[in-house]
Amino acid sequence: MTELSQINRQIFSTIMAFTALILFFAVVYNTGTGTPATTSFAENPPTQEDVDYFAYLNDLNVLDKDWTSRQADLYASCQESIQIFAAVLGLGKTAYQAELAAAGFDLHDPERPINRGDLYFLLAREFAAPEAAETYFPGQGKEEANALAKLGIIEVPFDRKLRLKEKITRLELAATVARIKEPKLRVHNAPVIVNPRQPYTYDRLQADLMALADAYPTLIKLYAIGQSVEGRIIFAARLGQGEKNIFLDASIHASEWLTTSLLMKMLEEYAHYAKYNETLGSFPVAELIDEVSMWFIPMINPDGVTLVLEGPEAVQHGALAKKILAQSKVQDFSGWKANIRGVDLNRQFPASWKRMINVAPRPAPSHYKGEKPLSEPEARALYEFTLQQQPALTLSFHQQGEIIYWYNRQQGEQLQRDRQIARQLGALTGYRSDHLLVNGGKYMDWVIAELKTPAMIVEVGTVVGDLQQWDKIWRQNRLLGLKALEVVLQAE
Ligand SMILES: [Zn+2]
Repeated sequence: MTELSQINRQIFSTIMAFTALILFFAVVYNTGTGTPATTSFAENPPTQEDVDYFAYLNDLNVLDKDWTSRQADLYASCQESIQIFAAVLGLGKTAYQAELAAAGFDLHDPERPINRGDLYFLLAREFAAPEAAETYFPGQGKEEANALAKLGIIEVPFDRKLRLKEKITRLELAATVARIKEPKLRVHNAPVIVNPRQPYTYDRLQADLMALADAYPTLIKLYAIGQSVEGRIIFAARLGQGEKNIFLDASIHASEWLTTSLLMKMLEEYAHYAKYNETLGSFPVAELIDEVSMWFIPMINPDGVTLVLEGPEAVQHGALAKKILAQSKVQDFSGWKANIRGVDLNRQFPASWKRMINVAPRPAPSHYKGEKPLSEPEARALYEFTLQQQPALTLSFHQQGEIIYWYNRQQGEQLQRDRQIARQLGALTGYRSDHLLVNGGKYMDWVIAELKTPAMIVEVGTVVGDLQQWDKIWRQNRLLGLKALEVVLQAE
């Protein structure tokens, strides 16, 4: 069995050129699953007792009287703020004031309390770099706030609302000054990373995984669990430190790439709620992932997804794929489910493999089960990783049908348990779970037979790859991973 390895993100930028090499280094240098990460400010901010923010402010020597933590909740005035930031930015107060007036800043009542919109305005001169347009406050179009958030000078609230009219306390002003003067005190804000409203390519997946691991360093760890036929890395992202595991996997079928964006959005959303220790729906995410780790395996078939989304020119086996397509009844690559060699990875698992019906006789866009079980590296990677991690539950995301499959001839208590879980997950999503799909070769079939743990297929949406359905799919499935965690914990 391949040892699980954590990817060294420093060398990841060269990954396309040196994929095999990097996997080797990752295995050699970074084995094990429990690498501790540094704690960021936002996830573990120093308390007011730990840091005297007012010391940084009083050091400027511009206030008539030093501010103290006893007055932390008083509102700061415009006048005071201008004085302070003129000093912070190294400008004369008169020059700064003239500059602000020229830029349209409202100076008619200097004694009025400063609000957050004013604060961003004051700092914009120095910190609103146009390249800092990452989205911390989506849809609210405030570039200065985004720039300040990126630099860690302001803290993005949990709900990402700007609240420009809210008045600023002396403490917040002092903390802002402290963060400007002392980079160590800057907060680690996470931007919105995953955009599911677009075709979700392998390149996007890689970039987003790196960005998520950077944004949530204590919560998300990345691993490579294997490689595709063409050498693309099959990623797993672990959310949380729980001893038990559940798996969520997607895009074992290439044309069903929308399931990848679904898992990535779940990963981002759950990490965000866990970071702020907030409940999502009724689920206390941070507590749950402390007990059970969630493993996201968002793209099992990266070669196939690349073929579907970017065409035969984008893969090494483009000519072979064209030949396989020409021999089939399918017109184009949009419905291609198989890996790049025309093997259906969800017909590759050693469960009733010989007895399977409805299989293609040769390599095909779908339904060809291969010459033997696990002949394909993608299926083998998932197989080995499953044996290694022994998940207590697996959810495999497919398209389409708004249905949950869960049955593979299990009996007795196992049958009762799995039926019950499928009903619970069905109730949450609104999907049917009464239909039995028995054949063989599927990942789900093998997990049920081999591990005796619940394993399910979740068929999302009603049209494969239709981005118009995103909102509905998200609404139905947003809490599904958390429900699965709860189910596993209740089963103890
Ligand atoms: Zn499928």
